[in-house]
Amino acid sequence: MEKFVPYGRQYIDGDDINEVIKVLRSDFITQGPRIDEFEAKLAEYCGSKYAVTFNSGTSALHGAYFALGLEEGQEMITSPNTFVATSNAALYLGAKPVFADVESETGNIDASKVEKKVTDKTRLITPVHYSGNPADLKELHEIVEKHGLAMIEDAAHAIGARYAGKRIGACQYSSMAILSFHPVKHITTGEGGAVLTNDEEYYERLLMFRSHGITKKDFVKPSDGDWYYEMHHLGYNYRITDIQATLGISQLKKLDGFVGRRREIAATYNEIFAENPYFNTVFEKEGCTSSYHLYPILLKDDYLDRKPEIFQKLRSEGLGVQVHYIPVHTQPYYQNHGYKDVSCPVAEDFYRREISIPMYPAMKDEDIQFVEEKLFKVFRDL
Ligand SMILES: *Cc1c(COP(=O)(O)O)cnc(C)c1O
Repeated sequence: MEKFVPYGRQYIDGDDINEVIKVLRSDFITQGPRIDEFEAKLAEYCGSKYAVTFNSGTSALHGAYFALGLEEGQEMITSPNTFVATSNAALYLGAKPVFADVESETGNIDASKVEKKVTDKTRLITPVHYSGNPADLKELHEIVEKHGLAMIEDAAHAIGARYAGKRIGACQYSSMAILSFHPVKHITTGEGGAVLTNDEEYYERLLMFRSHGITKKDFVKPSDGDWYYEMHHLGYNYRITDIQATLGISQLKKLDGFVGRRREIAATYNEIFAENPYFNTVFEKEGCTSSYHLYPILLKDDYLDRKPEIFQKLRSEGLGVQVHYIPVHTQPYYQNHGYKDVSCPVAEDFYRREISIPMYPAMKDEDIQFVEEKLFKVFRDL
Protein backbone atom coordinates (compact mmCIF):
# COMPACT_ATOMS: atom_id res chain seq x y z
CA MET A 1 0.00 0.00 0.00
CA GLU A 2 1.61 3.30 -1.05
CA LYS A 3 -0.24 5.57 1.37
CA PHE A 4 -2.16 5.12 4.62
CA VAL A 5 -4.13 7.93 6.27
CA PRO A 6 -5.11 6.97 9.86
CA TYR A 7 -8.45 7.99 11.42
CA GLY A 8 -6.65 10.04 14.03
CA ARG A 9 -3.15 10.66 15.32
CA GLN A 10 -1.20 12.95 17.62
CA TYR A 11 0.80 15.97 16.52
CA ILE A 12 4.06 16.36 18.43
CA ASP A 13 6.66 18.90 17.31
CA GLY A 14 10.19 19.98 18.28
CA ASP A 15 8.92 22.39 20.95
CA ASP A 16 7.04 19.58 22.69
CA ILE A 17 10.12 17.38 22.62
CA ASN A 18 12.44 20.12 23.91
CA GLU A 19 10.11 20.88 26.82
CA VAL A 20 10.00 17.20 27.81
CA ILE A 21 13.80 16.97 27.67
CA LYS A 22 14.03 20.02 29.95
CA VAL A 23 11.81 18.46 32.57
CA LEU A 24 13.77 15.19 32.44
CA ARG A 25 16.86 17.20 33.46
CA SER A 26 14.99 19.01 36.26
CA ASP A 27 14.49 18.06 39.92
CA PHE A 28 10.92 16.89 39.58
CA ILE A 29 9.70 14.28 37.16
CA THR A 30 6.56 13.69 39.22
CA GLN A 31 4.65 15.55 41.99
CA GLY A 32 6.41 18.73 40.88
CA PRO A 33 5.44 22.22 39.70
CA ARG A 34 4.57 21.35 36.11
CA ILE A 35 1.45 19.53 37.26
CA ASP A 36 0.09 22.65 39.02
CA GLU A 37 0.98 24.72 35.99
CA PHE A 38 -0.81 22.35 33.59
CA GLU A 39 -3.87 22.34 35.84
CA ALA A 40 -3.95 26.15 36.06
CA LYS A 41 -3.67 26.43 32.28
CA LEU A 42 -6.33 23.81 31.65
CA ALA A 43 -8.76 25.57 33.99
CA GLU A 44 -7.99 28.90 32.36
CA TYR A 45 -8.49 27.50 28.86
CA CYS A 46 -11.78 25.79 29.66
CA GLY A 47 -13.11 28.57 31.88
CA SER A 48 -13.48 26.51 35.06
CA LYS A 49 -12.20 27.38 38.53
CA TYR A 50 -10.28 24.16 39.08
CA ALA A 51 -8.65 21.37 37.10
CA VAL A 52 -7.27 18.14 38.59
CA THR A 53 -5.13 15.97 36.32
CA PHE A 54 -5.28 12.18 36.34
CA ASN A 55 -3.22 9.48 34.65
CA SER A 56 -6.03 8.68 32.19
CA GLY A 57 -9.48 9.82 31.16
CA THR A 58 -10.76 6.64 32.76
CA SER A 59 -9.24 7.40 36.17
CA ALA A 60 -10.58 10.97 35.80
CA LEU A 61 -14.07 9.50 35.38
CA HIS A 62 -13.53 7.26 38.41
CA GLY A 63 -12.38 10.31 40.40
CA ALA A 64 -15.29 12.50 39.29
CA TYR A 65 -17.89 9.86 40.17
CA PHE A 66 -16.18 9.33 43.53
CA ALA A 67 -15.99 13.06 44.26
CA LEU A 68 -19.71 13.33 43.61
CA GLY A 69 -20.33 10.49 46.08
CA LEU A 70 -21.70 7.97 43.59
CA GLU A 71 -21.99 4.66 45.42
CA GLU A 72 -23.47 1.20 45.57
CA GLY A 73 -27.23 1.12 45.20
CA GLN A 74 -27.31 4.27 43.07
CA GLU A 75 -27.88 4.61 39.35
CA MET A 76 -26.34 6.89 36.75
CA ILE A 77 -27.80 7.54 33.32
CA THR A 78 -25.46 7.68 30.34
CA SER A 79 -25.17 7.11 26.61
CA PRO A 80 -24.60 3.64 25.13
CA ASN A 81 -22.77 5.30 22.21
CA THR A 82 -19.48 5.77 24.01
CA PHE A 83 -16.24 4.14 24.99
CA VAL A 84 -16.76 1.53 27.72
CA ALA A 85 -14.90 3.65 30.31
CA THR A 86 -17.83 6.08 30.74
CA SER A 87 -20.01 3.46 32.40
CA ASN A 88 -17.23 1.15 33.65
CA ALA A 89 -16.09 3.87 36.07
CA ALA A 90 -19.55 3.82 37.68
CA LEU A 91 -19.29 0.03 38.03
CA TYR A 92 -15.96 0.48 39.86
CA LEU A 93 -17.94 2.22 42.63
CA GLY A 94 -20.69 -0.39 42.69
CA ALA A 95 -23.20 1.94 41.04
CA LYS A 96 -25.44 0.90 38.15
CA PRO A 97 -25.16 2.46 34.70
CA VAL A 98 -28.52 2.93 32.96
CA PHE A 99 -28.40 3.57 29.23
CA ALA A 100 -30.68 6.15 27.62
CA ASP A 101 -30.87 5.96 23.83
CA VAL A 102 -29.25 8.48 21.49
CA GLU A 103 -30.39 10.81 18.71
CA SER A 104 -30.00 9.36 15.21
CA GLU A 105 -28.66 12.68 13.83
CA THR A 106 -25.85 13.33 16.32
CA GLY A 107 -25.22 10.10 18.22
CA ASN A 108 -25.58 12.12 21.45
CA ILE A 109 -27.80 11.10 24.36
CA ASP A 110 -31.44 11.97 23.57
CA ALA A 111 -32.60 14.33 26.33
CA SER A 112 -36.23 13.40 25.60
CA LYS A 113 -35.46 9.78 26.56
CA VAL A 114 -33.55 10.51 29.75
CA GLU A 115 -36.38 11.46 32.10
CA LYS A 116 -38.14 8.09 31.63
CA LYS A 117 -34.99 6.44 32.99
CA VAL A 118 -34.99 8.44 36.24
CA THR A 119 -35.86 6.37 39.33
CA ASP A 120 -35.57 7.08 43.06
CA LYS A 121 -32.06 5.59 42.85
CA THR A 122 -30.79 7.92 40.12
CA ARG A 123 -27.99 10.20 41.25
CA LEU A 124 -26.27 11.34 38.09
CA ILE A 125 -26.53 11.98 34.35
CA THR A 126 -23.35 11.67 32.29
CA PRO A 127 -23.71 12.92 28.72
CA VAL A 128 -20.89 12.21 26.27
CA HIS A 129 -20.16 14.91 23.71
CA TYR A 130 -19.90 12.37 20.93
CA SER A 131 -17.31 13.24 18.26
CA GLY A 132 -16.79 16.64 19.94
CA ASN A 133 -20.33 17.82 19.18
CA PRO A 134 -21.95 19.12 22.41
CA ALA A 135 -24.95 17.24 23.83
CA ASP A 136 -28.13 19.13 24.82
CA LEU A 137 -26.82 20.41 28.15
CA LYS A 138 -29.67 22.86 28.82
CA GLU A 139 -32.36 20.21 28.37
CA LEU A 140 -30.41 17.73 30.49
CA HIS A 141 -29.85 20.39 33.14
CA GLU A 142 -33.62 20.90 33.43
CA ILE A 143 -34.05 17.20 34.21
CA VAL A 144 -31.17 17.36 36.68
CA GLU A 145 -32.78 20.32 38.50
CA LYS A 146 -36.28 18.85 38.47
CA HIS A 147 -35.19 15.56 40.06
CA GLY A 148 -32.35 16.80 42.29
CA LEU A 149 -29.62 14.96 40.36
CA ALA A 150 -26.13 15.95 39.25
CA MET A 151 -24.42 16.05 35.87
CA ILE A 152 -20.85 15.08 34.98
CA GLU A 153 -19.86 15.62 31.35
CA ASP A 154 -17.69 13.06 29.58
CA ALA A 155 -15.87 15.63 27.47
CA ALA A 156 -13.11 13.26 26.34
CA HIS A 157 -13.90 14.26 22.73
CA ALA A 158 -14.73 17.86 23.35
CA ILE A 159 -11.95 20.11 24.69
CA GLY A 160 -12.09 23.18 22.45
CA ALA A 161 -15.81 22.74 21.68
CA ARG A 162 -18.36 25.41 22.65
CA TYR A 163 -21.91 25.31 23.91
CA ALA A 164 -24.12 28.39 24.31
CA GLY A 165 -21.13 30.69 24.02
CA LYS A 166 -18.90 28.98 26.58
CA ARG A 167 -16.20 26.38 26.26
CA ILE A 168 -17.01 22.79 27.14
CA GLY A 169 -15.27 22.26 30.48
CA ALA A 170 -16.54 25.56 31.90
CA CYS A 171 -19.13 23.38 33.68
CA GLN A 172 -21.88 25.96 33.19
CA TYR A 173 -24.55 23.24 33.46
CA SER A 174 -22.64 20.49 35.24
CA SER A 175 -20.80 19.66 38.46
CA MET A 176 -17.72 18.37 36.68
CA ALA A 177 -16.38 17.57 33.21
CA ILE A 178 -13.68 15.04 32.34
CA LEU A 179 -11.05 15.16 29.61
CA SER A 180 -8.74 12.54 28.09
CA PHE A 181 -5.24 13.12 26.74
CA HIS A 182 -4.87 9.81 24.92
CA PRO A 183 -2.97 10.32 21.62
CA VAL A 184 -6.09 10.12 19.45
CA LYS A 185 -7.74 12.95 21.45
CA HIS A 186 -7.13 16.67 20.80
CA ILE A 187 -4.03 17.12 22.94
CA THR A 188 -1.93 14.34 24.35
CA THR A 189 0.23 13.48 27.36
CA GLY A 190 0.73 9.87 26.22
CA GLU A 191 -1.89 8.68 28.69
CA GLY A 192 -3.66 11.26 30.82
CA GLY A 193 -6.88 12.96 31.79
CA ALA A 194 -8.36 15.70 33.93
CA VAL A 195 -11.48 16.71 35.82
CA LEU A 196 -12.71 20.31 35.61
CA THR A 197 -15.00 21.81 38.25
CA ASN A 198 -16.07 25.09 39.84
CA ASP A 199 -16.73 23.48 43.23
CA GLU A 200 -14.07 23.60 45.92
CA GLU A 201 -15.39 20.56 47.77
CA TYR A 202 -15.23 18.35 44.65
CA TYR A 203 -11.77 19.77 43.96
CA GLU A 204 -10.49 18.69 47.38
CA ARG A 205 -12.02 15.22 47.06
CA LEU A 206 -10.49 14.78 43.60
CA LEU A 207 -7.02 15.63 44.93
CA MET A 208 -7.42 13.16 47.76
CA PHE A 209 -8.78 10.36 45.58
CA ARG A 210 -5.95 10.73 43.10
CA SER A 211 -3.37 10.22 45.84
CA HIS A 212 -4.42 7.22 47.99
CA GLY A 213 -7.18 9.10 49.83
CA ILE A 214 -4.46 10.86 51.79
CA THR A 215 -4.70 14.43 53.09
CA LYS A 216 -2.29 16.79 54.82
CA LYS A 217 -4.98 19.02 56.33
CA ASP A 218 -8.33 18.85 58.15
CA PHE A 219 -7.06 16.03 60.35
CA VAL A 220 -9.50 14.03 62.45
CA LYS A 221 -6.77 12.98 64.90
CA PRO A 222 -4.23 15.24 66.62
CA SER A 223 -1.14 15.76 64.44
CA ASP A 224 2.00 13.87 65.54
CA GLY A 225 4.29 16.47 63.89
CA ASP A 226 5.18 17.99 60.55
CA TRP A 227 5.51 14.61 58.82
CA TYR A 228 1.94 13.68 59.71
CA TYR A 229 -0.75 12.79 57.15
CA GLU A 230 -4.05 10.96 57.30
CA MET A 231 -5.83 8.60 54.96
CA HIS A 232 -9.55 9.35 54.88
CA HIS A 233 -10.74 7.41 51.84
CA LEU A 234 -9.71 4.36 49.87
CA GLY A 235 -7.99 6.27 47.07
CA TYR A 236 -5.59 5.23 44.33
CA ASN A 237 -2.36 6.37 42.77
CA TYR A 238 -3.93 8.08 39.75
CA ARG A 239 -1.35 10.85 39.41
CA ILE A 240 0.06 12.11 36.12
CA THR A 241 3.83 12.78 35.96
CA ASP A 242 5.57 16.13 35.43
CA ILE A 243 6.96 14.66 32.21
CA GLN A 244 3.40 14.23 30.94
CA ALA A 245 2.18 17.54 32.36
CA THR A 246 5.00 19.34 30.53
CA LEU A 247 3.95 17.75 27.26
CA GLY A 248 0.37 18.77 28.06
CA ILE A 249 1.34 22.41 28.68
CA SER A 250 3.20 22.52 25.37
CA GLN A 251 0.30 20.83 23.52
CA LEU A 252 -2.27 23.17 25.06
CA LYS A 253 -0.54 26.13 23.39
CA LYS A 254 -1.37 24.55 20.04
CA LEU A 255 -4.92 23.46 20.86
CA ASP A 256 -6.75 26.35 19.19
CA GLY A 257 -4.74 25.71 16.03
CA PHE A 258 -5.55 21.99 16.23
CA VAL A 259 -9.27 22.58 16.65
CA GLY A 260 -9.23 25.25 13.93
CA ARG A 261 -7.67 22.80 11.49
CA ARG A 262 -10.13 20.06 12.46
CA ARG A 263 -12.99 22.47 11.75
CA GLU A 264 -11.49 23.39 8.38
CA ILE A 265 -11.22 19.72 7.45
CA ALA A 266 -14.83 19.16 8.58
CA ALA A 267 -16.04 22.13 6.51
CA THR A 268 -14.31 20.69 3.43
CA TYR A 269 -15.77 17.23 4.10
CA ASN A 270 -19.25 18.72 4.65
CA GLU A 271 -19.04 20.41 1.26
CA ILE A 272 -17.66 17.40 -0.61
CA PHE A 273 -20.20 15.01 0.93
CA ALA A 274 -23.31 17.19 0.63
CA GLU A 275 -26.17 15.15 -0.85
CA ASN A 276 -24.04 12.15 -1.81
CA PRO A 277 -25.99 8.92 -2.46
CA TYR A 278 -24.06 6.72 -0.04
CA PHE A 279 -24.00 8.21 3.45
CA ASN A 280 -25.12 11.02 5.73
CA THR A 281 -22.95 13.12 8.02
CA VAL A 282 -23.41 14.58 11.51
CA PHE A 283 -24.34 18.25 11.92
CA GLU A 284 -23.87 20.81 14.66
CA LYS A 285 -27.00 22.09 16.35
CA GLU A 286 -27.73 25.78 16.85
CA GLY A 287 -25.43 27.16 19.56
CA CYS A 288 -22.99 24.22 19.34
CA THR A 289 -19.45 24.39 18.00
CA SER A 290 -17.94 20.92 17.60
CA SER A 291 -14.25 20.29 18.16
CA TYR A 292 -14.49 17.35 15.70
CA HIS A 293 -12.61 14.66 17.55
CA LEU A 294 -14.21 12.35 14.98
CA TYR A 295 -15.81 12.75 11.60
CA PRO A 296 -18.53 10.06 11.50
CA ILE A 297 -20.28 9.04 8.29
CA LEU A 298 -23.59 7.13 8.52
CA LEU A 299 -24.37 4.63 5.76
CA LYS A 300 -27.70 5.02 3.97
CA ASP A 301 -30.12 2.07 4.02
CA ASP A 302 -28.91 0.46 0.76
CA TYR A 303 -25.40 0.03 2.14
CA LEU A 304 -26.19 -1.16 5.67
CA ASP A 305 -25.72 -4.86 4.98
CA ARG A 306 -22.39 -4.29 3.29
CA LYS A 307 -20.59 -2.43 6.06
CA PRO A 308 -18.00 -5.15 6.79
CA GLU A 309 -17.09 -5.22 3.10
CA ILE A 310 -17.03 -1.41 2.81
CA PHE A 311 -14.89 -1.12 5.94
CA GLN A 312 -12.42 -3.73 4.72
CA LYS A 313 -12.15 -2.09 1.28
CA LEU A 314 -11.59 1.37 2.79
CA ARG A 315 -8.76 -0.07 4.86
CA SER A 316 -7.16 -1.76 1.88
CA GLU A 317 -7.37 1.50 -0.09
CA GLY A 318 -5.29 3.16 2.64
CA LEU A 319 -7.99 4.82 4.76
CA GLY A 320 -7.54 4.14 8.49
CA VAL A 321 -11.25 4.02 9.26
CA GLN A 322 -12.69 3.03 12.66
CA VAL A 323 -16.14 2.48 14.13
CA HIS A 324 -17.42 4.48 17.13
CA TYR A 325 -19.03 2.82 19.03
CA ILE A 326 -20.18 -0.73 19.65
CA PRO A 327 -23.10 0.07 22.02
CA VAL A 328 -21.77 -0.54 25.52
CA HIS A 329 -24.76 -2.58 26.75
CA THR A 330 -24.14 -5.16 23.98
CA GLN A 331 -20.62 -5.96 25.22
CA PRO A 332 -20.29 -9.51 26.60
CA TYR A 333 -19.38 -8.23 30.07
CA TYR A 334 -22.54 -6.12 30.24
CA GLN A 335 -24.64 -8.91 28.70
CA ASN A 336 -23.42 -11.22 31.47
CA HIS A 337 -24.07 -8.66 34.19
CA GLY A 338 -27.73 -7.81 33.84
CA TYR A 339 -28.01 -5.97 30.51
CA LYS A 340 -29.46 -8.79 28.34
CA ASP A 341 -32.87 -7.13 28.12
CA VAL A 342 -31.59 -3.61 27.56
CA SER A 343 -32.40 -2.23 24.15
CA CYS A 344 -31.32 1.11 22.67
CA PRO A 345 -32.52 0.73 19.08
CA VAL A 346 -31.22 4.08 17.85
CA ALA A 347 -27.71 3.51 19.24
CA GLU A 348 -27.76 0.00 17.77
CA ASP A 349 -28.81 1.40 14.39
CA PHE A 350 -26.21 4.19 14.65
CA TYR A 351 -23.57 1.53 15.21
CA ARG A 352 -24.70 -0.39 12.12
CA ARG A 353 -24.31 2.76 10.02
CA GLU A 354 -21.28 4.50 11.50
CA ILE A 355 -17.74 4.67 10.12
CA SER A 356 -15.23 7.28 11.36
CA ILE A 357 -13.08 8.61 8.52
CA PRO A 358 -9.67 10.26 8.95
CA MET A 359 -9.72 13.48 11.01
CA TYR A 360 -6.61 14.93 12.67
CA PRO A 361 -4.95 18.35 12.60
CA ALA A 362 -1.82 17.29 10.69
CA MET A 363 -3.97 16.18 7.71
CA LYS A 364 -2.88 18.03 4.60
CA ASP A 365 -5.21 19.17 1.83
CA GLU A 366 -3.83 16.36 -0.33
CA ASP A 367 -4.80 13.87 2.40
CA ILE A 368 -8.38 15.19 2.32
CA GLN A 369 -8.40 14.74 -1.45
CA PHE A 370 -7.02 11.23 -1.01
CA VAL A 371 -9.84 10.41 1.42
CA GLU A 372 -12.47 11.80 -0.97
CA GLU A 373 -11.08 9.89 -3.94
CA LYS A 374 -10.73 6.53 -2.21
CA LEU A 375 -14.01 6.80 -0.31
CA PHE A 376 -16.07 7.46 -3.42
CA LYS A 377 -14.11 4.83 -5.36
CA VAL A 378 -14.99 2.15 -2.81
CA PHE A 379 -18.72 3.01 -2.94
CA ARG A 380 -18.78 3.31 -6.74
CA ASP A 381 -17.07 -0.06 -7.22
CA LEU A 382 -19.29 -2.00 -4.81
C1 LIG B 1 -11.00 8.15 25.37
C2 LIG B 1 -12.26 8.16 26.11
C3 LIG B 1 -12.35 7.89 27.48
C4 LIG B 1 -11.23 7.34 28.30
O1 LIG B 1 -10.06 8.03 28.20
P1 LIG B 1 -8.65 7.29 28.43
O2 LIG B 1 -7.73 8.48 28.56
O3 LIG B 1 -8.37 6.48 27.23
O4 LIG B 1 -8.73 6.51 29.68
C5 LIG B 1 -13.58 8.05 28.11
N1 LIG B 1 -14.67 8.42 27.43
C6 LIG B 1 -14.64 8.65 26.10
C7 LIG B 1 -15.88 9.06 25.41
C8 LIG B 1 -13.44 8.51 25.39
O5 LIG B 1 -13.42 8.70 24.07
